Amino acid sequence: MTEKISNDILKICSICKGVIGQVLPYNNVAYSNAPELQDLQIAFCTNCGIGVALPEKSWDIMQNFYERSYRSKCSIHRNAAHLLASKYSVSPRALSQWMLLKTFRSFGSSDSFCDIGPGSGATLQTALFLGLNLKMYAYEPDEFSVGDLRKLGIEVYAKSFNPQIELPSIKFSAIVMSHVLEHFSISDSIAVLKKIKCILSDDGIFLCEVPSTSIGVYGKMRRDDSPHLTFWTVSALQKAIMTAGMRILFTSTAGTKYEDLWNNKQIPVNIKQGLFRGIIKKAFLSKKCPKVLLNTALQINSIVNRKTIYDLLAAPEFEYSSDRQYIRIVCST
Ligand SMILES: [Zn+2]
Repeated sequence: MTEKISNDILKICSICKGVIGQVLPYNNVAYSNAPELQDLQIAFCTNCGIGVALPEKSWDIMQNFYERSYRSKCSIHRNAAHLLASKYSVSPRALSQWMLLKTFRSFGSSDSFCDIGPGSGATLQTALFLGLNLKMYAYEPDEFSVGDLRKLGIEVYAKSFNPQIELPSIKFSAIVMSHVLEHFSISDSIAVLKKIKCILSDDGIFLCEVPSTSIGVYGKMRRDDSPHLTFWTVSALQKAIMTAGMRILFTSTAGTKYEDLWNNKQIPVNIKQGLFRGIIKKAFLSKKCPKVLLNTALQINSIVNRKTIYDLLAAPEFEYSSDRQYIRIVCST
């Protein structure tokens, strides 16, 4: 059941000028103590379908959340594991992203690549695995990852890419921003996309990937919305990218449809598994856990989950390594 919108901050969709009129509660499980994510609702546009957290939380507010909560030692999103231990460990998501990029453009030694929000560096490591001779850059604020990325020869801007960021003079031949845009408000999302256009070379390509989370479709199938602020549909993402002045070359959705998983009762099983893994992870990441125990657990996890490239190519999750659908767009200036 939807509720009436409780504030007048955003009633006209800034992407398509449609009406944002239906509202659902914002489910905040992972960050229930974070002051920045209190008293939110999700409203969605009846035209393009984008869902937005209201009242809108700007980057000015959210950067405190990312510094104090998201990357805290107890956060389930902390990048606690070191980079992939084996050269044979390749991320299926990153591999499929690179294969898609390479269908639009070849890359040589004079080209440059930038990963916005690489986390533990799967996309960059996969580029190395593929033998791509690119100068590589990354925007990554997580101190834990910065050192590892620099050891790989990657030039790291140790900060978040954000709507107010001062841009470098360099222009990149390829940029990937995977599962980052949904962390920004709708206004900041457009601003971030405009910033990306500014650092993309004239013949460059940009790959953007976000979860496909149409609130109009999945409204009753949600468990935890935090810390996302926008919930994208294909139509909304295409319009946002065009609003930022870029040209769309390719759009796809892939992964198992969320409603199919839900209807087949796979989601409740996955939720239980996810909650169990979350509890275990939180216990290891707590301040009370001795560091040696954490490092041992991470090593065991690394060994147990290590897959060869041959495992990945033969596995159904090659398309996507999660239990939901995503939207992937490639565009140019
Ligand atoms: Zn709209």
